[in-house]
Amino acid sequence: MPRFRAILDTMPPYKPGRAVVSPDGRSYKLSSNESPYDPLPSVVEAIAGGARQINRYPDPGAVKLTEAVAERFDVPAAHVALGPGSVTVAQQLFEAMGEPGTEVVYAWRSFEAYPLLADLAGVTSVRVPLADEDHDLDAMAEAINERTRMVLVCNPNNPTGTSIRRAELEAFLDRVPGDVLVVLDEAYREYVRDADVPDGLTLYRDRPNVCVLRTFSKAYGLAGLRVGYLIGHEPVAAAVRKTTLPFAVNHLAQVAAVASLQAEDELLERVDIVVKERTRVREALIAQGWVVPPTEANFVWLRLGDRTLDFAEACAVEGVSVRPFAGEGARVSIGEPEANDAFLTAASAFRR
Ligand SMILES: *Cc1c(COP(=O)(O)O)cnc(C)c1O
Repeated sequence: MPRFRAILDTMPPYKPGRAVVSPDGRSYKLSSNESPYDPLPSVVEAIAGGARQINRYPDPGAVKLTEAVAERFDVPAAHVALGPGSVTVAQQLFEAMGEPGTEVVYAWRSFEAYPLLADLAGVTSVRVPLADEDHDLDAMAEAINERTRMVLVCNPNNPTGTSIRRAELEAFLDRVPGDVLVVLDEAYREYVRDADVPDGLTLYRDRPNVCVLRTFSKAYGLAGLRVGYLIGHEPVAAAVRKTTLPFAVNHLAQVAAVASLQAEDELLERVDIVVKERTRVREALIAQGWVVPPTEANFVWLRLGDRTLDFAEACAVEGVSVRPFAGEGARVSIGEPEANDAFLTAASAFRR
């Protein structure tokens, strides 16, 4: 019997969102925070063009995409590091700084990938409970010690949708020692409308130990191609590049991401529609009597406790797949209006 690392026996497997079908054949996937829209024709065209070159390895430096990201956000190209999804970029950060005896601090509940990445890297997770549904930044600052290498801050937080405001986040960053990397995971940044929720790119510039993770998977609708990036100071971006396997971001992902930046106005119009739907869904839920934390992301969070799995089953009857966290609550993505209506129907029936 081949021997594996002991940690593999204790790691829970990642549970992807599953599709469900209602008795009358309807199916709405609101479990993975994806864009509900078909890819833009211009992006499909770029991918089709790219398909004719796939006998060749991709550009290992992803020069065009790196420059397009740098230009879009007005940062030096040396501050940009790409990866096959921002989760993989986070994994590269763990790879770059994690070793047994070191710690990573993050809120809990937050993004499910964090504990997996920490376990894989042999880094000890220090989970700081949310205060209600929000990051408890004071407790997180207090959890930092000489073993801490990294702090992950998911803003807006997945799965609760809650956000940290500028003053709070700046005060927290001021407390973090300069040799601890703070990773601002902004996978949902494009959905933020509250002007008080800071853009991490305005915070990292004069803070060498702060970096930002972004992705093409959500607002840009490229979840299936896997491409995300980090923006941080040169040593941080360089560490990510060093720990990336060659050719990690494939050619189709590179061309699709470049085309998506070119078509950004069109994509962000779709984000606006999702944001409007988010308001509609949250207000309807509140009118039904639910408690729904304010959300700046493309999903809502319902704290259901023991009723969480029953709720997921009730949604499945309407063909709606949600993301249940047993004993805690359910995260429900904002989809197209028809999907949102099906979810609201299920939520209303469950309430009664
Ligand atoms: C979806 C998500 C990501 C994006 O992951 P990719 O690997 O880029 O698809 C990153 N962070 C959080 C918190 C997310 O919810």
